[in-house]
Amino acid sequence: MPLKSKKIYSIFFIYWILLAYIIAALIFWFITLNNQSQLMSELKKQNIPLNAQNYQSQIEKIENDSKKKVNQYNGEGSIFLLVIMAGALVFYKAVRRQFKISQEQQNFMMAITHELKTPIAVAKLNLETMQKRKLDENQQQRLIYNTISETNRLDTLCNNMLISSQIEAGGYRFVKEEIDLGKLVDTCTEEFITRYPNRTINKNIEKEIFITGDPMLLQIAVNNLIENAIKYSPKDMPVGINLELNDTVAELQVTDNGPGIEDDEKKKVFAKFYRLGNEATKRAKGTGLGLYITRKIVKNHGGNIFILNNTNAGSIFTIQLAVIV
Ligand code: ADP
Repeated sequence: MPLKSKKIYSIFFIYWILLAYIIAALIFWFITLNNQSQLMSELKKQNIPLNAQNYQSQIEKIENDSKKKVNQYNGEGSIFLLVIMAGALVFYKAVRRQFKISQEQQNFMMAITHELKTPIAVAKLNLETMQKRKLDENQQQRLIYNTISETNRLDTLCNNMLISSQIEAGGYRFVKEEIDLGKLVDTCTEEFITRYPNRTINKNIEKEIFITGDPMLLQIAVNNLIENAIKYSPKDMPVGINLELNDTVAELQVTDNGPGIEDDEKKKVFAKFYRLGNEATKRAKGTGLGLYITRKIVKNHGGNIFILNNTNAGSIFTIQLAVIV
């Protein structure tokens, strides 16, 4: 267990002990007060002379007073207990949430450092190799291709990071213009076909589907889905990009034959920094920002995004956006 987690768990342990002590003290005082009140009323009763005229009514009055006191202790004690419990629950949840966020951020920082350093190191090495050695055309092309794909990865990562922080800080101004979604998706797809010449990328894209939106953001969203389909499915399996018009809704589907996503994870993968924990996924590079920002962009365009299971294996990421009518 990391040192930080150990510290948090000991803080939680002390917290529960303290809470238990407060509740035990409250119960102790409640019992003591009740006993004392009973003792007082007994004493009061004993002080009434047996031959007093209104003996019975005085006894009844003392008993009624004592009952009232007990009810008062019950009421005040329960409210006090409720307030303590509610406060403790709110505090516990806040600390836990903070702990989770800080852990996710730590994971993110580790992932981001790795994600930033790797493409830079690869590109540097490739360029140095080309500078120092006389390479044949084939080798040179391979290195150039490799360098371009690494810088593309860096570009996607920077875009995702910048846009997500800008949107969160409320500093991003959404562009609203008429876009041919068919053309946009086709351009993104063609770029991936060039970037991944060894992958089978099947496209079935209807042209002239017009929507209102921000072309740069939509491009980021579409790229993230295609990138994931390629990243999380075996190299010899095809990836599909389909765009069609259903009534007044443009539906984009990005399909793959990878490991797929379990039903109970289908919503969670859109959370910030969330990454699935299986071994196949862990081997793939990533930060857990792609789907988060994609969902944000789709929601900002008034659309829907969801995941379906592909027949046999894999996932179908679907985006629905309203078209201009
Ligand atoms: P990243 O790819 O950087 O980890 P994303 O937000 O794009 O972050 O994705 C979050 C997680 O969702 C990924 O880590 C992966 O586990 C899972 N995921 C995304 N797309 C797919 C896919 N097409 N098939 C299987 N799992 C996927």
